[in-house]
Amino acid sequence: MATDLQVVAVRRISSVNPATGEVLRELESASVSEVQAAVARAEAAQTAWCDLGISKRIAVLREFQCRLHEKKIEIAEAITREAGKPVAEALTTEVLVVLDAARFLIDNAYRLLRDEPLPHGNLVTKLKRGLLVREPHGVVGIISPWNYPFSIPATEALAALVAGNAVVLKPSEFTSLVALDLESLLHAAGVPGNVFQVVVGDGATGAALIHSHINKLVFTGSVGTGKRIAAAAAERLLPVVLELGGKDPMLVLDDADVDVASSAAVWGAFVNAGQTCLSVERCYVHRSLYEPFLEACTEKTKKLIVTHGLDHNAEVGPLIHQRQLTIFEEHVEDAKARGSRVLAGGSRYPEMGANFYHPTVLADVTHEMRIMREETFGPVLPVAAFEDDDEAVKLANDSEFGLAASVWTRDRARGERMARRIQAGTVMVNDVVSCFGISEAPHGGMKSSGMGRTHGRFGLEEMVRLKYMDTDLMPGMKKVWWYEYGSNFARQMEGFLDMQFARRLGERLRGTLRAAGVLKRKQL
Ligand code: NAD
Repeated sequence: MATDLQVVAVRRISSVNPATGEVLRELESASVSEVQAAVARAEAAQTAWCDLGISKRIAVLREFQCRLHEKKIEIAEAITREAGKPVAEALTTEVLVVLDAARFLIDNAYRLLRDEPLPHGNLVTKLKRGLLVREPHGVVGIISPWNYPFSIPATEALAALVAGNAVVLKPSEFTSLVALDLESLLHAAGVPGNVFQVVVGDGATGAALIHSHINKLVFTGSVGTGKRIAAAAAERLLPVVLELGGKDPMLVLDDADVDVASSAAVWGAFVNAGQTCLSVERCYVHRSLYEPFLEACTEKTKKLIVTHGLDHNAEVGPLIHQRQLTIFEEHVEDAKARGSRVLAGGSRYPEMGANFYHPTVLADVTHEMRIMREETFGPVLPVAAFEDDDEAVKLANDSEFGLAASVWTRDRARGERMARRIQAGTVMVNDVVSCFGISEAPHGGMKSSGMGRTHGRFGLEEMVRLKYMDTDLMPGMKKVWWYEYGSNFARQMEGFLDMQFARRLGERLRGTLRAAGVLKRKQL
C-alpha cells in the first residue's frame, strides 16, 4: 500500500479539450500528505457544519441553486470544453440535473433526515420509546468519472453536505477544471472552504483518499476500478457506494411505435457520444419490426450533426481520449469481423478531430461479440432481433451488468410485467437514460454494476449512518427478563409465548395465567 501511495508525490496532469487537443491547464496531482491534510481539515470543519442545523444548510443549497442558475451557460461551456459534449447536453444532462437535485433536497431533506419515532410491537418492550436518528458519517470521499463531470459529483456532494458531512472530492484526472468550478460555486454559496474540497489527481490520488481518514466513500467509475476500490475499502471496513459500468439493454416489443422507439434508440446510444453509463448499449427488436426499425435508426443516425460541442448545432461530440476510442474501435472491428452489418458510420472522423468517430449502427450482432458483452462506451447502436418476449428477457439478463434497461411497448401493463423480469437497478418503460434526471429516483445497479444508491431518498440515506436510540419509560422498574431466573421463570416465559403466539384461544388463555406469575418474581 505504501508504495502505491508514494507514487503520487510529483505528478502533473493536463486538462485537455477532447475536441481540439488543446491543453486547457496543467495541474499538479495532490500528494498523499496533501490528501491527508485535506481530509484532516474537513474532519475539523465538519462538526461546526453539522451543528449549523439542517435549515441553514438547506439555505446554503438554495443559494447554490440560484448561483448555478445564474452561471448556467458559463458552467455548461466549461463542461463542453473539458468533456466534449454539446452545450445543449451539458445544460440538460448536467446543469439541469444538478438544479433539480438541489430542488429535491431543498424540498425534502428536512423531512427525510429528521428523527423518526419507531413504535414497538413486541409486548415485552412496549414501555420503551424507539427513535431512529440519522447522523452524518463525518467526511465523505467522492471519486468521480469524466463522463458526467459536473452532475455526478455535484448530486452526490449536495446530498452529503445537506446531511451534515464534509466532502473531499477526487474528480477524474480528465475533468479537474469542472470540479474546481463546482468547488467555487459551493464556496460562493456559503459552504465553508474546508467543508467541501477538491483534490485533483489520477488513480493514485484516489487511492490516497481511500487510505485517508474518510468515513464513507462514494465511487463512480468502471467495474475494474470499482473492484480494486472495494478490496481496498474492505481492508479498513470503509463503507462504500459503488456506481459502476453498465451494458443497458433496450427491448422493442412487437407492439412498439417504431418511429418513437428508433428516435429513443438513436438518442440513447449517441448522447454524450455514447459515453453514458445508462447508454443504450444493446438493442433487441422483435423480428416483425426488425428491418423497419433498423431502417429508421440508420436514417436518423445519418442525419446527426457530429462536430465540436461548442458549435451550437452540435449533436454528437468527440470521445474523451484516444484510449477510449481504441477500446471502442476494437469492439466495432470485432463485431464487423464476426459478421455484423454496418448500416451507418463504422469509421473514425479525422477531418473533425483525432477523437471523433461517426455514429455507428450495427445490425445482426450476437452475444459472441465483445460489443454485446463488454462496456463499449462510444457512439454505436448494436441491434439484434428476438422472436418472443421470453427470449427478449433472456437476452437482456444475459450480462454481467445490471444498471438499467428499457422496454418499448404501447401496452403499459405488458411493459411493466416485462420490467419486473429484467435484472437491473432501473427499468424504464418507453424511455431511456432520463431516469438519471429524476431526482426522486434511486440510481444504482445490481450484479457488476455496483452496490448502494445515489439520488433521491435512498441516496440521501447513504449519506447518514443510522443510530437507533431507545429510552425506557419506566426507569424505576427492573426488566422481567433480568436475573434472577429461579426455577419458574422458564415456565412463565413459555406461558408468555403461548399467550401471544399459540394457535388456539384456550392455549393462549392458559399461557396468560402462567405468564402472570412473572410479575411477582423476586429479582436481583
Ligand atoms: P475509471 O474507473 O477509470 O475512473 C473513475 C475514477 O476513479 C477517476 O477519478 C479515477 O482517477 C479514479 N481511480 C482510478 N483508479 C483508482 C484507484 N486505484 N483508486 C482510487 N481511484 C481510482 O472510470 P472512468 O473512465 O473515469 O469512467 C467511466 C466509467 O464509469 C464507465 O465504466 C461508466 O459506466 C462508469 N460510470 C458509472 C456511472 C454510474 O452511475 N453507474 C456513472 C458514470 C460513469
